[in-house]
Amino acid sequence: MSNLKEECGVFGIYAGETCDLASDVYCGLFSLQHRGQESCGIVINDDGLFTAYKDNGLVNDVFSPDRLAALGNGNIAVGHVRYGTTGGNARENVQPIVVNHIKGRMALAHNGNLVNSYELRSALELDGSIFHTTSDTEVISYIITKERLSAPTIEEAVNRAMNRIAGAYSLVMMSPQKLIAVRDENGFRPLCYGKTPDGKYVVASESCALDAVGATMIRDVEPGEIVIFDRSGVRSIRDHCGKRKPSLCVFEYIYFARPDSVIDGCNVHAARSRAGAFLALEHPVQADIVVGVPDSGIDAAIGYSKQSGIPYEMGFVKSKYIARTFIAPGQKSRESKVKLKLNPISETVRGKRVVLIDDSIVRGTTSARIVRLLREAGAKEVHMRISAPPFLNPCYYGTDIDSRENLIACSHTVKETAEIIGADSLGYLSVESVRKIARGMEEGGYCTACFSGEYPTEIPKETNKNRFERKISDSQ
Ligand code: SF4
Repeated sequence: MSNLKEECGVFGIYAGETCDLASDVYCGLFSLQHRGQESCGIVINDDGLFTAYKDNGLVNDVFSPDRLAALGNGNIAVGHVRYGTTGGNARENVQPIVVNHIKGRMALAHNGNLVNSYELRSALELDGSIFHTTSDTEVISYIITKERLSAPTIEEAVNRAMNRIAGAYSLVMMSPQKLIAVRDENGFRPLCYGKTPDGKYVVASESCALDAVGATMIRDVEPGEIVIFDRSGVRSIRDHCGKRKPSLCVFEYIYFARPDSVIDGCNVHAARSRAGAFLALEHPVQADIVVGVPDSGIDAAIGYSKQSGIPYEMGFVKSKYIARTFIAPGQKSRESKVKLKLNPISETVRGKRVVLIDDSIVRGTTSARIVRLLREAGAKEVHMRISAPPFLNPCYYGTDIDSRENLIACSHTVKETAEIIGADSLGYLSVESVRKIARGMEEGGYCTACFSGEYPTEIPKETNKNRFERKISDSQ
């Protein structure tokens, strides 16, 4: 029910010999679907012969059993699920990107946004480069390809490219012989790898995708690290490690990632539950029950309940079957759509003072509807608690929090926001506490820029999320 979107999920697999990898990539992408629902793609590498299929739509819709079978067998594969931030959702931006160059070919899948892609792309275009997409990912592939002309290996080309690209990128890419995982120097987006019982190496945005293919997690890819999987095993290039302060997006724990994933050593459910406990300490209230907004508010609600002693109750049923793009026939109002997606359980909330936990308030419109649903179901009081601080700043690292204009906390006090959404009271988690929700956070090392304004990198000069489209129309 949140208005926030993650950009992407990436997946890669390396098998020593040719076998059916398409099914594994399908399962991995299916478990990463929460990270992007607009498009998806798979590229299978059969000893240098690349077969790709990608399209707009959910994994389940794009890849039928026949479509998967048509991809054939291979020994390496990469896959991607996408929600378009930079570059929108045009079909040509669907990933992975496949590039043929003078030294061979590569396929590349990317999660995150660069902060210098506009400058890099402008320089490449002035040099004669022709772009087919409007995504940052093509900029990265150009830079790597250019470096490959003089670098002795593809991994050295990536290593050199990392001196030029800045911002958020977790990459999974393959050459004819190698699978390569890369995480930017700040480590904004998660990336980890593991191994299946039959010896395949698997790389994914989140550990839930390793679980989906029966792989055991080995570890996270470190910020700045390049991990190479090939016939000689697994090795790392660490020239970029330790160059910048680690800055994993704290909102991965609050909202983006799946609760069963483990990111940088901390389980997401445990972090959310801790956020709820901090919230109970910071914003106590006399109430009868605690209710979480499904799905990501539930873990924090459990934490709030445990800390406060107020019983946790299931206050809503969320439809499992409603698609993002669902349009109810004959029902135009958003109210009706909200009720179809999320329905309160009257028996639970009637006559009760309810603490309602959600992960965020962006514009306030969704929160207002949910509070109204509870009141219509008979709740006596609704006290809204948010397991994150107020959004006050845009994000430049691969989410769609792209403008202050859309953020209610930028133009209204907490009291005003409570009135707008119709809550009896409202409390946000403090920035100090959000820094402590994951293990090890006390030492810092996390990005909180959208809450604190402390950006771990330079702020991009051009921040429009459709910056490349605008550039094209300017030139006409
Ligand atoms: S600005 Fe916010 S959403 Fe963006 S990476 Fe940092 S913590 Fe995450």
